[in-house]
Amino acid sequence: MRHFDYKDGEMFAEDVALRDIAKTVGTPAYVYSTATFTRHFNVFADAFKGRKALIAYSVKANSNIAVLATLAKLGAGADVVSEGELVRALTAGIPAQKIVFSGVGKTESEMRAALKAGIRVFNVESLPELEQLSDVAVSMGTRAPVAFRVNPDVTAGGHEKISTGKAENKFGIAWSSVESAYARAGELKGIEIVGVDMHIGSQIDSLAPFEKAIEKVGALIAKLRAQGHTIRSFDIGGGLGIPYGDNTKTPPPPSEYGALVKDLTSEMDVELIFEPGRMIAGNAGVLLSKVIYAKSGEDREFLIIDAAMNDLIRPALYDAYHEIEPVKASGRDFNTQIYDVVGPICESGDTFTKRRELPEMKAGELIVLHSAGAYGASQSSQYNTRPLIPEVLVNGDQFSVVRDRPSLEDILRAESIPDWI
Ligand SMILES: *Cc1c(COP(=O)(O)O)cnc(C)c1O
Repeated sequence: MRHFDYKDGEMFAEDVALRDIAKTVGTPAYVYSTATFTRHFNVFADAFKGRKALIAYSVKANSNIAVLATLAKLGAGADVVSEGELVRALTAGIPAQKIVFSGVGKTESEMRAALKAGIRVFNVESLPELEQLSDVAVSMGTRAPVAFRVNPDVTAGGHEKISTGKAENKFGIAWSSVESAYARAGELKGIEIVGVDMHIGSQIDSLAPFEKAIEKVGALIAKLRAQGHTIRSFDIGGGLGIPYGDNTKTPPPPSEYGALVKDLTSEMDVELIFEPGRMIAGNAGVLLSKVIYAKSGEDREFLIIDAAMNDLIRPALYDAYHEIEPVKASGRDFNTQIYDVVGPICESGDTFTKRRELPEMKAGELIVLHSAGAYGASQSSQYNTRPLIPEVLVNGDQFSVVRDRPSLEDILRAESIPDWI
């Protein structure tokens, strides 16, 4: 069931008309659906019923604290990749013991903050990081719980820029060095080995790479245990893809993913950890925008909208597809037009789609870009001095602005002109 859909000819988010949100907060704006976050989290959790599993939502997908608090209430943990995300997760009420810390470049101060908070586990990606973490832990009179992120060298992920589990990627411990890394960890005073971790890519649209990687890591777990290491948890990462409404392959549903993972890990005697991001947040948000101009080019029609690549960079960065619909569907005669939908920024890359057949639209009309709940707001910038856009969370017939649009004064306050000028 879709929580962004037409009722009486206009698009709603749950029981709130997008037109009303546009009137209140202006455009562009991100609009999120509580019911969708809830359904996605519960579908994922249900897929692992009967197994001890921590679902550590990947904060970088959508890091608004209202989103995190919504998920926290459902029992979610958090996968964080910076001190900022750690503070967000704690602020939203996610218990430290449900927080895992990923990322290839954790700094000393980030390690200190996470140890102080008492997080569940550090997913360590290199030996220098391991040594640093041990030093920090010893200096604080404690031991850091560690899993190594191993790189199982499988090909996965919807785009070259979001594939992470191949030998050539910067992520994880190279497969041939894993055993020596665990051996070193076993010698360090500040380290407590607790598990194994992997994350092979994003927008993965088939089960095969998961199957291959889990089998490989399963065999590794047996080997590590035989070498005397305690492996309590197996973190399978995130990466399950979602439908974006184009004609590419439809990713498997979480129920099939869950059945496969449960089957493959049934004899492993491990607690499972997952780090889903896109699967929870992607289809829980839309980007609400307005047509500024409809412009005729030499050989094509442009819709110039008030959202741009600084607000939603996925099309520019990953050639991503977003379904586009007008907010108002009725009262028109459904003429269609082939459009390039573009933003106002001075870059040709500021293009949401090329040559897409859409209902004919005019200046001033509202438009939505679907599937913008993950890697939308969290990747946005103020390029062209366009203020970050507001985020609105809908819950039934209520909505709340969960991030304000900064004023231009807010933006300029952080800058100054030196005396010598
Ligand atoms: C980005 C990321 C995730 C989430 O990936 P999705 O494709 O959004 O599920 C999980 N774990 C790590 C380590 C990541 O970097």
